[in-house]
Amino acid sequence: MSKKLTSRTEDYSKWYNELVVKADLAENSAVRGCMVIKPYGYAIWEKMQAELDRMFKETGHQNAYFPLFVPKSLFEAEEKNAEGFAKECAIVTHYRLQADPDKPGKLRVDPEAKLEEELIVRPTSEAIIWNTYRNWIQSYRDLPILINQWANVVRWEMRTRLFLRTAEFLWQEGHTAHETKAEAIAEAKLMNNVYATFAEKFMAIPVVQGVKTESERFAGADETYCIEALMQDGKALQAGTSHFLGQNFAKAFDVKFANKEGKQDYVWATSWGVSTRLMGALIMTHSDDNGLVLPPSLAPNQVVIVPIYKSDEEFEAVSKVAKDILSDLRGKGITVKFDDRDTQRPGAKFAQHELQGVPLRIAIGPKDLNNGTVELARRDTLSKEIVSLTDLNKKVEDLLKEIQDSLFKKALHFRDTHITEVENFEEFKDVLENKTGFISAHWDGTNETEEKIKELTKATIRCIPLDMKGKEGTCVFSGKPSKGRVLFAKAY
Ligand code: AMP
Repeated sequence: MSKKLTSRTEDYSKWYNELVVKADLAENSAVRGCMVIKPYGYAIWEKMQAELDRMFKETGHQNAYFPLFVPKSLFEAEEKNAEGFAKECAIVTHYRLQADPDKPGKLRVDPEAKLEEELIVRPTSEAIIWNTYRNWIQSYRDLPILINQWANVVRWEMRTRLFLRTAEFLWQEGHTAHETKAEAIAEAKLMNNVYATFAEKFMAIPVVQGVKTESERFAGADETYCIEALMQDGKALQAGTSHFLGQNFAKAFDVKFANKEGKQDYVWATSWGVSTRLMGALIMTHSDDNGLVLPPSLAPNQVVIVPIYKSDEEFEAVSKVAKDILSDLRGKGITVKFDDRDTQRPGAKFAQHELQGVPLRIAIGPKDLNNGTVELARRDTLSKEIVSLTDLNKKVEDLLKEIQDSLFKKALHFRDTHITEVENFEEFKDVLENKTGFISAHWDGTNETEEKIKELTKATIRCIPLDMKGKEGTCVFSGKPSKGRVLFAKAY
């Protein structure tokens, strides 16, 4: 069995990194800032993908795929978007290598193979997609276009962390085109809602829905809606974003349509995305010093059965019961693994499943066979009980629901007890130093105040909560009038 994890109180960030590696979720690779997602981590991501994909289709979207490369001239077309992403782009300049005449066995870039136009490896796909939409849209009859793409993108991040911020990451990006402004805004809000529902119901992560301030807005957007979550160390994490892009991309790519009155008008747009960062959110919301804690809806195996035996006969007898349980539970749509590896002792198996966050563990030994019982252990509370075989199916079903529910409640309680309302800047600094979490404070709405607070405290405005708008007060920093409280926090 591997050494215990560093505890969260000792070093939160070390705990996180160790957990990701030891639970076999991902590891660093030979490429700076890029990770290898291992099968167990990928299985969790696939569960997220499947549910999100289902929700996207339920709300009328279809999947499509666009190229990885964006010709520089297209990339430049929407100026704000280009300027925003320019600092973190990977650029393809050549298309061929050749043997290096000075260094035997080495290759070099063929100077003859320079591309006429450089290609940007997509950091986001608005440019290539809106250049394509121009050919697809002529009249209002061609609208709306509701498309999602599952893809990888590259942003040359300087400070990377496994899952939370990588130079290449996996995500989905929705890109929609609409007849009216109202319709596009409704779409951006709808998808932010889809993200919030997904985070809360499926990942058991409570989120605040809000809009970003101008300085935190997506480059090229008129409004950025977001879901913000709070991690166990009191730092905030932007878990998903949905942008109302106005007519900015339509104007940059000349995408016009004949409206119902027969007049030409520019198309209205949205884009929205969540990424493998959600894996980081999952880990940092629920896990503990023993390892990963998974909500049942995201667990690759919701239940694991571990046989306890000394002889071949005992193994046979235990296996027979285990296989009956397996097929019963599978029949109820529960994912179960029978861990019958003979290369590991039960203690090592227990430790591994605990580290990997399997919600429920069933252990069956010879004593249980005599008593018609099993030992059932919960990962989230680490509690154990003896359950009779006749009650087991129902008990497992009930417990899986209860675990999902209780993880959400626990996270919600943590979040809600870490939102502190402050009235002045002294209190603001005090909370940052001693309590962490979200600070709910009045802000005068200016960029300058936001910048100064950031400079002095490293806390940023995470969002202007959708439900907090309109309650007036006085800015904690400038003393000027404020339209309502916003949420500040130090963030990932
Ligand atoms: P954006 O296109 O910037 O709105 O980002 C879309 C989603 O991807 C958001 O949920 C971001 O939090 C997430 N994201 C942005 N940059 C990274 C990164 N370097 N690694 C992982 N996720 C990211």
